[in-house]
Amino acid sequence: MNTVKNALYNLNHKMIDCSRKPPVSFEAFLQDVVSRPQIVLRNIFQVFHDMIEWYIGDGFDEYPNDPESIHYVNYDCSRLFEEESDRPFFADRLFANRLVHLVENMKRGSQQNKIYIFNGPPGCGKSTFLNNLLRKFEVYSNSETGIRYELVWRINPHIFGPPPDNSSMSVIEQLAALLTAERQNSSGLTNIETHVPQGADGYIEIPCPSHDHPILLIPRSYREQFLSELFEGSPFRETLFTDKGYHWIFRDKPCTFCNALYRSLLNTLKDPALVHNMIWARHYRFNRRLGEGISVFNPGDSPVNNNVLHNPAIQTRLNTLLKSSTEVHYLYSRLAKTNNGVYALMDIKSHNTDRFIELHNIISEGVHKVEDIEENVNSLLLAIMNPEDQKNIKEFKSFSDRIEYINIPYVMDINTEVKIYKNTFGKQIEERFLPRVLLNFARVIVSTRLMTRSEALLEWIGDPEKYNLYCDNNLQLLKMEIYTGLIPQWLSDDDRKKLTSKRRRRIIAESDREGVSGISGRDSLKIFSEFFSIYGIHEKLINMSVLCDFFTRKKRDLMQSIPGGFLDSLMRMYNYTVLQEVKESLYYYNERQIARDIMNYLFAVNFEPSVTEVCTYTNDKIKITDEFFDEIESRLLGSASSRASRMEFREIVQWEYTSKTLTQEILLDGKSITETDIYRRLHERYVQNIKEKVLDPFLENSNFRRAIKDYNTPDFKTYDKRIRIDVKYLIRNLQRKFHYTEQGAKEVCIYVIDNDLARTFASR
Ligand SMILES: [Zn+2]
Repeated sequence: MNTVKNALYNLNHKMIDCSRKPPVSFEAFLQDVVSRPQIVLRNIFQVFHDMIEWYIGDGFDEYPNDPESIHYVNYDCSRLFEEESDRPFFADRLFANRLVHLVENMKRGSQQNKIYIFNGPPGCGKSTFLNNLLRKFEVYSNSETGIRYELVWRINPHIFGPPPDNSSMSVIEQLAALLTAERQNSSGLTNIETHVPQGADGYIEIPCPSHDHPILLIPRSYREQFLSELFEGSPFRETLFTDKGYHWIFRDKPCTFCNALYRSLLNTLKDPALVHNMIWARHYRFNRRLGEGISVFNPGDSPVNNNVLHNPAIQTRLNTLLKSSTEVHYLYSRLAKTNNGVYALMDIKSHNTDRFIELHNIISEGVHKVEDIEENVNSLLLAIMNPEDQKNIKEFKSFSDRIEYINIPYVMDINTEVKIYKNTFGKQIEERFLPRVLLNFARVIVSTRLMTRSEALLEWIGDPEKYNLYCDNNLQLLKMEIYTGLIPQWLSDDDRKKLTSKRRRRIIAESDREGVSGISGRDSLKIFSEFFSIYGIHEKLINMSVLCDFFTRKKRDLMQSIPGGFLDSLMRMYNYTVLQEVKESLYYYNERQIARDIMNYLFAVNFEPSVTEVCTYTNDKIKITDEFFDEIESRLLGSASSRASRMEFREIVQWEYTSKTLTQEILLDGKSITETDIYRRLHERYVQNIKEKVLDPFLENSNFRRAIKDYNTPDFKTYDKRIRIDVKYLIRNLQRKFHYTEQGAKEVCIYVIDNDLARTFASR
């Protein structure tokens, strides 16, 4: 028994928390205005901005101190579009920045009503975008962070004198209401509510049908002074009076009903204080299903016969109280329900075309007539549209300043494209790829969505040929990097410097015309699914050969969409990069050995061969012989160097060592040997030479390839110790430095050897 009571008690309490809080008096509302004006004084545009900002934050800037930054940052849109959603929407970096830019303008601007059309090709996910956006807006608006107030009248009927006969009056009222309802419903003319909300204390509660902000009820001629006094001594006063975003507080009028009721009450009661006691404020809650605050129309939703909503019960009650039925009319249109809220059209076709045209006419004229009265429409008007549906609204398309288009194209940020694959097919797909190859799949898809000629990039880079190891001739690979927010390492210092904010803006601006054709989001998932079902099940990881094979042989029809030469360039960039990785992994192992060699050499040049000495820097016991010098000098000068040039080199080194390095740098300045000029120069030479040649000995030794294959198997023990050490370091460095798995590291080494990449890039 107690458990039932407890459970019920808890349920009741939880539900109180969730349900609408009781209205607060005008005075309490004003207290709240003063204590947190930035929250309580927001119109729909400001709250929309705050909502986006609250969900996605400030964004991450990879180059925070870059003086040429255009603040093209990485926004994390997951809370807004992905979490708690049946169908996540993935906003790429370009679109996220566009959206943030839009809402910032909305917040800043002195608002004129506009229709914001999100224009995107089929399969770009725009309906998912709008649905998720509105769902989160609803959640936000109903939360404490997103709170806004709306006006509600609470009228004590006793103020108007004793009612003739309370009980019978209400029966008559109800009867009258029912009769009117009956009559009008059967004629299909109007939509009627017959309910008079009544508080427990006998007060009549009448919400503003247009969800007016309560502050608007203060007559405009008094507002400025009132607010000035309200914010006396507050730093917010300055903001309120100067920030364009708050202009609405001084400009907007309450709805016709509230305005009329206010005047009528003042006339009847002759006491503003009494009237202001009837003004209450409550949390403006959005409810998409009821169309309160948010209404979303699909093209197939047929129009209702009558747009005018009445509430005869309230009307009768008001007439009785005010005894002047001609002035105050509780009637409003459906648009009032989304005043200060969101009105959205899912696609502009069939019935939504009519809605769009109606909306456009209303906002162009600034006001809209409901029967005899005028109604304000101050809503966030959103629509999504396919480019092909532009024909439906072509009469407004070009010249209307009431329409703002925001492009919502296919994903052009390769990181987002990969995120979509992972979301659809599971995170573990990545494990089936060698590093970089999954991103390259995305690069192929994205290449079909970009323009092939980029004026902005050509103006900046000039001749694309100079980057042909890293980039295609159309510079699409460069553009893709920039769209992800990265400035590639391989750019020359000169080009890096030339990447001014003006150039950056031009490049990003090009994205506004891209992503409308090419492989759609929907199709790219189909293609990936097909690709992965073929190659994802193999024992071998997916590499670039397989990827190119798929596009050039299996999906030849796609080659028409992929720009000519793109796959070759992608392959070249990949090959060059992995070759560098393998080389570096071999070379890094040698780092300690290089230092030893140079220190021993610098020590040894002071002796004539052949002697054995202990090096003072390394404590190595060195046999200083001609062979010793030959070995190191061949690495410093190249194996083709003549004996004469080696001898000369050795003499110069010895001279510098004794005259400068030892006497001045080491003894006088207290530097260590590795900090000296000569050490640094020898090290540079050594590294350069060794990197170039590092693979040679292994490529010529077929044991090396087999040892890689047998790495970490019992057979590995059968190899020569030298090879075992090299292979082990190579594999481990690839894992540590370049995030390969052991299997991946083995496979990429074999890939480099089998494709003879060292020779392909020998001259580079
Ligand atoms: Zn109102």
